[in-house]
Amino acid sequence: MSNNTLQLTNGEVFTTMREMEHEQLVFCTDNNTGLKAIVAIHNTTLGPALGGTRFWSYQQEDDAIIDVLRLSRGMTYKAAISGLNLGGGKAVIIGDSKALTNREPLFRRYGKFVNGLAGRYITAEDVGTSTSDMEFINMETDHVAGKPEYLGGGGDPSPVTAYGVYLGMKSATKYATGSDNLSGKRILVQGVGHVGYNLVKHLTKDGAKVMISDISEERLKAVAAEFGAEIIGTDKVFDTQMDIYAPCALGATINDDTINKLSCQIIAGAANNQLKDEAVHGKRLIERGITYAPDYLINAGGLINCYVELEGYNRERALSKTEIIYDRAMEIFQVAAKNNITTQAAANQVAEERIRAIANINARL
Ligand code: NAD
Repeated sequence: MSNNTLQLTNGEVFTTMREMEHEQLVFCTDNNTGLKAIVAIHNTTLGPALGGTRFWSYQQEDDAIIDVLRLSRGMTYKAAISGLNLGGGKAVIIGDSKALTNREPLFRRYGKFVNGLAGRYITAEDVGTSTSDMEFINMETDHVAGKPEYLGGGGDPSPVTAYGVYLGMKSATKYATGSDNLSGKRILVQGVGHVGYNLVKHLTKDGAKVMISDISEERLKAVAAEFGAEIIGTDKVFDTQMDIYAPCALGATINDDTINKLSCQIIAGAANNQLKDEAVHGKRLIERGITYAPDYLINAGGLINCYVELEGYNRERALSKTEIIYDRAMEIFQVAAKNNITTQAAANQVAEERIRAIANINARL
């Protein structure tokens, strides 16, 4: 569930937590290592709260609080819609990740804090943290996923995420055109990093006419050379005629400036929070006749990969569990059409219904 425009209500943390329905917010500091971390547990109805730790130079502490509240709530919805027995959580470490050279002390100290939550929160990688940081955390706690393969972890989740995005795209295509065949479709992948690269691989194999755009010349050249994809300048993305737009770089690319220019039938990509304003831009896409595959559903492969790691990792199982995305996306498109609501609102509704149903059975025990 995305929201790019949140603020603390009247500057108050408790009021905001109540409004956003969070369970717990944990502040962690350590003078020796300089650690300043915040763990947010949004909802544990379905299981322990799982979500990555973001290491970011927030300008103000309020920015870090709002980010961790927003991201942890998003994880509740992502887990619920993907049929996982996980709740939503997330953590932020405040600071400059790139400037931290000796990472072991800080991440082990942080691991002790995570361990203190006794399994209510399970951490993983996010922006600014890596599998090697997870190794340090793992020295202090079992409540960590996204570990390297040699420690029983799932390794790089991007191929699993890309597979989910590909299936979500096929489902949207089936819904919008009656067939999920991507052969001959003009598909623009914006951002050919870890996920975008793997997505291009699937699309090329299916015979799609793939176009790519990226700020990195090096990535563009490499991906164009490997797959024969057409390169589109970053300033030309929204002037390009395409069947499917796949945002795989940044959030909020669907906004007041771009939405009227977009010339596509379907939007399906990996980036989080693609709609600048969920309600406003979601509605505008309906008016424009564009089928939007909700980002947090179709990019859930990375989370599914972490979940499978908790069970005992197996890549085949992670990929097969990710296949739920095709049918779930179809269900969302149908619920949205039936109730005349945006696909994002329909996804939220389906996720909330699952949480409510399980909360009810828990209450009866
Ligand atoms: P990445 O950093 O590997 O790749 C991002 C790519 O986007 C890079 O090649 C970068 O050069 C490019 N880029 C940055 N700004 C751009 C711009 N303005 N225009 C065009 N290209 C631009 O990241 P990733 O792991 O591939 O993730 C891509 C997106 O998917 C992110 O938004 C991420 O949050 C989301 N996501 C990733 C995963 C995962 O498993 N990696 C899971 C869920 C969601």
